[in-house]
Amino acid sequence: MNPRTMPNWSVEDSAALYGIRKWGAGSFDLSSDGEVTVKASFPSGEVTVSLMEIIRGIEARGHAMPVLLRIENLLDARIGLLNETFRASINRAGYGGEYRGVFPIKVNQQCHVIGEIVRFGAPYGHGLEAGSKAELVLALANLREGGLLICNGYKDREFIDLGLWARKLGFRCFFVIESPAELPLIIERSRALGIQPLIGVRIKVSSRVGGLWTETSGDRSSFGLSTAQLITVVDTLKENGMLDCLELLHCHLGSQIPDIRDIRAGVLEACRYYADLVREGAPLSCLDLGGGLAVDYIGARANHVHSSNYTLEDYCRAIVETVMSTLDPQGIPHPHLVTESGRATVAYSSILLFNILDITHFEAVSLPESLPEPSHERVRDLFTIHKNLDSANLRERYETAVQFRDEIRDLFKIGQISLRERSLAENIYLAVAQGIAVRLDSLPEASPGLNGLRDSLADIYYGNFSVFQSLPDTWAIGQVFPVMPIHRHRERPVREAIISDLTCDCDGKLDSFIGAEGERRTLPLHPLQPGEEYYVGVFLMGAYQETLGDLHNLFGDTHVVSVRINEIGGFDVMEEIPGDSIADVLSYVEYQPETLFEEFRTTAEKAVRRGKISVAERQKLLEEFSASLSGYTYYEK
Ligand SMILES: *Cc1c(COP(=O)(O)O)cnc(C)c1O
Repeated sequence: MNPRTMPNWSVEDSAALYGIRKWGAGSFDLSSDGEVTVKASFPSGEVTVSLMEIIRGIEARGHAMPVLLRIENLLDARIGLLNETFRASINRAGYGGEYRGVFPIKVNQQCHVIGEIVRFGAPYGHGLEAGSKAELVLALANLREGGLLICNGYKDREFIDLGLWARKLGFRCFFVIESPAELPLIIERSRALGIQPLIGVRIKVSSRVGGLWTETSGDRSSFGLSTAQLITVVDTLKENGMLDCLELLHCHLGSQIPDIRDIRAGVLEACRYYADLVREGAPLSCLDLGGGLAVDYIGARANHVHSSNYTLEDYCRAIVETVMSTLDPQGIPHPHLVTESGRATVAYSSILLFNILDITHFEAVSLPESLPEPSHERVRDLFTIHKNLDSANLRERYETAVQFRDEIRDLFKIGQISLRERSLAENIYLAVAQGIAVRLDSLPEASPGLNGLRDSLADIYYGNFSVFQSLPDTWAIGQVFPVMPIHRHRERPVREAIISDLTCDCDGKLDSFIGAEGERRTLPLHPLQPGEEYYVGVFLMGAYQETLGDLHNLFGDTHVVSVRINEIGGFDVMEEIPGDSIADVLSYVEYQPETLFEEFRTTAEKAVRRGKISVAERQKLLEEFSASLSGYTYYEK
């Protein structure tokens, strides 16, 4: 049956199946013609654009898939929302300080992204956080005068000098001290240059947080000062008459903290430090609570590594309330609040788009009515299971079929069964497995021991992308991103699949997806239509993925296209950055494309001399070699 004409499936079913309204945070949805849409808000109202329309626009501009699509409006909206929500919580609670966000550059260093954050964040005084010299350099070139700049990480003399000059230029540049060794150098350089530094101290809170980054907090965290070190820093500042430079207390509990209670506990502990440092005489005025604001990747609203059990509003309120309730009884003025939200700021704005190149099905093909004579006894046994399959004893029959299949493979290895017989047997096995899977559907309850059966029959869809280049966290830490087709949502997705990338690596795959009841191993997808591309998107992947990615199998950067949705319901292409060519990636691993061409030309010329190819063929060959060098590293049609 043609799935396009299948009854009983609607866009609503698709929306529920892929959970788009749960993880999409109101930005993503489906249109009535079954395409994924993105929404942007304007003073005049909301505008919705289909991603298929954007894909067509990108392809018409000459960029083949895969493409990393950035939607500027979503980035702007997140910065606005973060600042406005803190502002509202502060006003509602009568809190005495202000909110200042900083964007941690490491989460997405791309020029266009930082430029956009600085531009859109300017009215809110949104600053930047730098964790290395290179990040400091780019922050100084981007930030505006008066901007807040938090410097974490280890600092050498060059870093410190640059930061001190930034003070002189008018930046609010804080050195956050992570280790006692940094302080003497800061004191020495500030004396030498005659510039007063702004100093922060990073503490290690002992409250442990849940999630994938628990190591960031606690005694054994490699960041921050122990209490003994903190006392040393305070005493050294006092001895040097510089305690008045200590204006900021910093702590970072970890990234993607799923439980609001952990955030409250961490803030509470930080406030205890804050109060005692004030009593020590430090003129603290800023409390920097680092990152950790989670993204609900699976839309479950739960205390789960890929989710979060709180909203942005809950987060802001928890911080404001905890600080007030801890400091008020001690009569300590409310500090300005700083957070370094990276993930929650940029995750939403990027989508990886790719097309499907091919599919492998695990299905029996054309089984004979009866076995050829002679057939091995084991093959005959397997065939009997196939012929007599009904709904009884499914688990037992499945286990026996697996056992027979494995025995047949062993018999092949010792030469007792031919390649054709083995092929026939594996085909019969697939028929049995499929027959069982179909019958399982009609059983009232789940069958223990048979859960893996359906996964083992799932299709493999080959996607035109590299996990290692574009989605490194899925491989490195088992990150789950929302994945779904961009179109055809009026049709029932009748296939169950995992998605494999183009690398020759068994880790290069997506096989963990969002299901209605937690994670699932396979993703429902549509069959390919002849002559038609099938587009899939990976959502919420704007944080950390772009620079952590690598050149495994020499798949390079994808094309990047930034669009801005406009008020009249269209979109403007703001920036197009071509991805790496083959020559680019070869030069990253120290080849010189000109030399490679020269060497290949010599080989071709020798072949002409030996009469293997004609001069015309040589010419054609060299043209193709040259075209490949300048071509995309991904599959081109
Ligand atoms: C990584 C990091 C952040 C960003 O954390 P998110 O959870 O992405 O918001 C903020 N501050 C510091 C010090 C970090 O190391």
